[in-house]
Formats: sequence, structure tokens, C-alpha cells
Amino acid sequence: MKLFGAAAVLLLALLPPSPARAEPRAANELGRVMILEYHKIDYPESRWTRTPENFRRDLETLYARGYRLLALNDLLDGRIALPAGTTPVVLTFDDSSPGQFRYLERSGGLEVDPKSAVGILEAFTRERPDFGRAATFYVLPGASRPNRLFDQPLLEGRKLQYLVSRGYEIGNHTLWHANLGKYDEATVRSQISQAQEWIQRHVPDYRIRTLALPHGVYPRDLGWILRGTYKGTTYRHDAILMVAGGAAPSPFGRTFDALRLPRIQAVERDLASWLDHFQRNPQDRFVSDGDPATVNIPAARRDALRRELPRGLRVVER
Ligand SMILES: [Zn+2]
Repeated sequence: MKLFGAAAVLLLALLPPSPARAEPRAANELGRVMILEYHKIDYPESRWTRTPENFRRDLETLYARGYRLLALNDLLDGRIALPAGTTPVVLTFDDSSPGQFRYLERSGGLEVDPKSAVGILEAFTRERPDFGRAATFYVLPGASRPNRLFDQPLLEGRKLQYLVSRGYEIGNHTLWHANLGKYDEATVRSQISQAQEWIQRHVPDYRIRTLALPHGVYPRDLGWILRGTYKGTTYRHDAILMVAGGAAPSPFGRTFDALRLPRIQAVERDLASWLDHFQRNPQDRFVSDGDPATVNIPAARRDALRRELPRGLRVVER
């Protein structure tokens, strides 16, 4: 921290006296958006695990570099209500492992573990309200321990209700992480519909709009996971998330495909390399114009715009 401070002072000393502040980032709502994919928040740091301290540091880095949290469903709807000059980032958590959301018993009451992902997010948002509060949890209601709905059986319902009440989203990740490429239609449909049914036992009217593919594997027929009714449960998904693929195209871009949404695995190296990519290639980065009713694009990129935009949106060229 001290070193960083010294470096910053040195850097400031070397800069010309004006402009005193960095120019605000020009709006570019055709730029790409990172959908980050976390697994375990726990110890030690490894391929599928981010420590609580490193997760907290990710939030700090994102905030400092002008990123703000956006709910996935808002991205899908093209409803981007962020301050001008900031960039949306979407957080997703797969597999409902205990470190994502843990309750601790404290003096007779329950408290969200400040070292679990939800505790870290809540604390960060309290300190920096303008960072926003959003994340999607792809939970496994029928998995074996410890991945079954965050592994505190008596508190499952309370956790899902808490998430929904705080504006977080819950997504389908199948009942127990089934590799959908291996199964017939009936099994695929039952994995999807049973997961939804089990979640809705706790949050009855909650509509699950997105599915993250276990292992990133599609079933033989995409239609099986998009919509259907199985044993009385009707499901309908607006987006399907993969496990990799890099930053997602702008939701206003021609190449945006909600049924094949790429994600970035939030591990040290991948995250650092994407943050670095957007520092070096600012023109590739989605930058909000601050007005959710307009889509602000560089005139030269008009051809990259989607043919049909969500209702009510107006294009502004610069
Ligand atoms: Zn998974």
C-alpha cells in the first residue's frame, strides 16, 4: 500500500499540471462487457477457489477502474442505468458452495458471514453504495454436500429469500450439475424443471430467467433447455451462459447472442489479463452514457448495432 502511494505521488509529479483530472471516458455502448464467473470463495486460492481477501480485492480493483455492478437480467433487457463514464460488470457464482453464502450464529441471532461472498459484497456495497448491488447465483438444489444450496440445510430457504429480497438473482444450474450433453430429452427436462421447482419451494413466485450450463456442455437440442413443461413445472429461459469465452458483446451489438453468453473465469490471471486488455484497448470497453433510454455509439460503428433494440431505446451517435 505504501509503495503504491509512493508510486502514485511520483507519477503525479511527472504529469503535466493540466488537465488536473483525467478526461471522462467517452460513452461507447457497443463495447464489450465482462460477465465474471466465481466458484468457491474459500482457502486456499486455487483453480476453482478465490480467497475472501482476493475476492474483496477484485471488487476494489473493479471499482477503482470505473466498473459498476449490473444485474444480468438488466443486461439482457438492455436496461443499463449506470453513471456516465462507468462500465457494467456482471458477477455470477456457480455451484452454491458454502463459502458463497454462510450464516454464523452470533449471540442468539444469525449474521451473514463477513468472509462469505455475500457478506463481502454487502460490506463493499455499504462502503461504496455507487458500486451497486447485483450478482446471479447458479445454485444446485439437489447436489450432494457441500454444494447443495450453500450447505446449511436448515437455512436454505432463508438464504434464497434473502438473495431475492436484496436484489440478487438466482439462476438454474440443473438439479445436481448434470452434464446435459450425456442425457436424453426427458432427463434434461427433468433436471431443469426439478431445479426450478426446488428453488421455487423457497421463493414461490420467483422467475428464473437464466441457465448456466454445467461444464459448459449444451444438450443435443437447445430447445430442451429453453422452454418447456415437465411434470407440471413450466420453465422459460432468456439466456444460456457458457463457462468461458471471454468478454460478452454489448447487448446492443449485432453479435450479442443471449443463448451463448460467454463468461470470464474470475481467477487471478484471467481477470488481470482482461482488465489489462480494457486498459490498453479502451475502444473495446462498454462505457455508459448515463442515460438508460439512449444507446450511445461511435458513428463509425453503426453497422455493428443490433437490428432490433429493446423497446423504447433511442440511438445517439457521436
Ligand atoms: Zn457448475
